Amino acid sequence: MEITLRSYQEEVVQAALKGENSIIWLPTGGGKTRAAVYVAKKHLETTRNAKVAVLVNKVHLVDQHFNNEFNPYLGKAYRVKAISGDSSDKDLFGRLVKDSDLIICTAQILENALNSSEEEKHVELTDFSLLIIDECHHTQKESVYNKIMGRYVEKKVRKERKLPQVLGLTASPGTGGNKTLAKAVEHVLQICANLDSVIVSTKNYASKLKEVVPRPRKQYDIVEKRALDPFGDHLKLMMSLIHEFMPSTVSRSLREVGTQDYEADVVELEKTGVKEENRLITQCALHLRQYNDALLIHDTVRMVDAFNVLDEFYNSRSNKLLDGTDFFLQGLFDENRVELKQLALDARYENPKLAQLQRTLLKEFKENKMSRGIIFSKTRRGTHCLYDWVNANHELQKVKISAGILTGTGTGVNHMNQNKQKNTIKDFRLGHLNLLISTSVAEEGLDIAECNLVVRYGLLTNEIAQQQASGRARALNSVYSVVAEEGGRELRREFTNEYLESLTSNAIDQVQSMSPREFRIKITELQQTAVLIRIEAERKKDARKRRYSPDQVHLQCRGCFVFVGLGEDIRKIENSHHVNINPEFQRHYRTGKQVFLEKTFEDWEPGQVINCRKCGKDWGMEIKFKKVAILPCLNIKSFSLDTPGGKFTHKQWKDVEFQVTEFDFIDYMSSRFPDLDLDD
Ligand SMILES: [Zn+2]
Repeated sequence: MEITLRSYQEEVVQAALKGENSIIWLPTGGGKTRAAVYVAKKHLETTRNAKVAVLVNKVHLVDQHFNNEFNPYLGKAYRVKAISGDSSDKDLFGRLVKDSDLIICTAQILENALNSSEEEKHVELTDFSLLIIDECHHTQKESVYNKIMGRYVEKKVRKERKLPQVLGLTASPGTGGNKTLAKAVEHVLQICANLDSVIVSTKNYASKLKEVVPRPRKQYDIVEKRALDPFGDHLKLMMSLIHEFMPSTVSRSLREVGTQDYEADVVELEKTGVKEENRLITQCALHLRQYNDALLIHDTVRMVDAFNVLDEFYNSRSNKLLDGTDFFLQGLFDENRVELKQLALDARYENPKLAQLQRTLLKEFKENKMSRGIIFSKTRRGTHCLYDWVNANHELQKVKISAGILTGTGTGVNHMNQNKQKNTIKDFRLGHLNLLISTSVAEEGLDIAECNLVVRYGLLTNEIAQQQASGRARALNSVYSVVAEEGGRELRREFTNEYLESLTSNAIDQVQSMSPREFRIKITELQQTAVLIRIEAERKKDARKRRYSPDQVHLQCRGCFVFVGLGEDIRKIENSHHVNINPEFQRHYRTGKQVFLEKTFEDWEPGQVINCRKCGKDWGMEIKFKKVAILPCLNIKSFSLDTPGGKFTHKQWKDVEFQVTEFDFIDYMSSRFPDLDLDD
């Protein structure tokens, strides 16, 4: 198929066609991917031994780019291949790359292949002649994109040759959280340095671009705070009783309830409690976090949604009541449950934001029977609550609103699987659904039909997500509505983001107006700095990992502080799953429900969940390795580590300060069958 580009697309691909590394900056709906297909085509036609890698940051974008763009235009003349995380192809990545001209994969798959020592899997950056990086504003800090480009930059600084050309695509590089022009310029330069690229945008055809990508009409649907809030007040009263149960110095140190600050405070408080082995503190902190969650939900969706969060927490826990603290906390909820539920069902005090959302939806869907809308909400839970609300709302049902949920794909229970997500988008395109309720992360880069209504509902995001959301409203006369509370944080953030959006384009302007020499000097300096920082950080990380010897580290249950094992009992599988191989460990836990995972793994499958035998804390699950070895796989968040340097808690296993050895199947099995002399 022939590719015809619009005038502004022609303009922004010029640098890339000359072989320069460049970032294409075009708004959502401007046709970035098509421009990239064009560059890839010209590159394949004119370069000897050309090999192109298209990198995306989300699994579902692999198929989308393959089916909608790269394969239709290039599939006839070239060997185009899509490799997604679920396919077994990824295990032969190295060979696949040899046998194709263009591959599309997630950055993670390429990163794994760059790290792999197995010949079938391994590739080098220099095996490629062009790297196309989608949503390239993510190329910063610890992201996978930046790990890949970090290698690239290091090779460049070391003056290695034959590096591939780079083409980045973004709807906005953002300001990196900066609010001054000087800092925003630094941020844009850093992104340019990370991608070793200049940034290009249309200069001559800006008005044409505006025609193609019209901006929606923005409307602020602002509501007043509830005048009376008996349900919220009751939650706060219960929290104050928990505060009184704790030492007063502790309670006084916490910031205002119902805020993110408060959440941060109780998360820290729990850690302090673990270090001091003070169950009163840890348990109160954990429960207060649940109450605070309920308050935050109460602030966004229905009261009953907030009630359900607490009710689930108290009634589905496997935890045992060990001491007075547990009895107090469980008792407090049990005593108040009935009253709390009654208050939650009193429609007079329902969340005014929902009434406003209803008016906004009704207006569009009554006027235009063919309306299509997206509501963006903060959390996965939020999307589910709104979905329930839409379906239970007679007024919305009368105008035939049919909603679907769109959330990110992942491994958690609340995550969608890829097929479900695909079907939802398809149903929306075909009109079986006319309202999507989405988290703003899930939506990035997805090929969603044009909407005439985009609602940002009680949402806090950065300017990049805000711009991408606004880009969804592309139908004629479309409306972009912000539903928020008068004087609230969401509204302030919305205004800040508008300012940051214009700051971003000013910053880009300034970067583009630098002389090539000045730009090159700045970029080189940033790249050299980044390489030095990375080398030093690696060295420090290595030293940290060896701080304690594994036999000095004791594992304790985070719920009841019982000692359950040593660091030397831990082995890692596929560099991410951590199992305890000591047969003694079994007596510390009991097993529960069977775990089901969407994904399949090369060597193992999930078994049953495991809980602390003493306090019931959720520890992780058993896994079945090669169908025979049953091993407890532990979540580091459920434990604390007692070391010669004090007690520590970690979020991820990779942060622990001792070396964990790789799991060795033969070694493990032969220790169980000592009669077998396998060594000879
Ligand atoms: Zn325990």
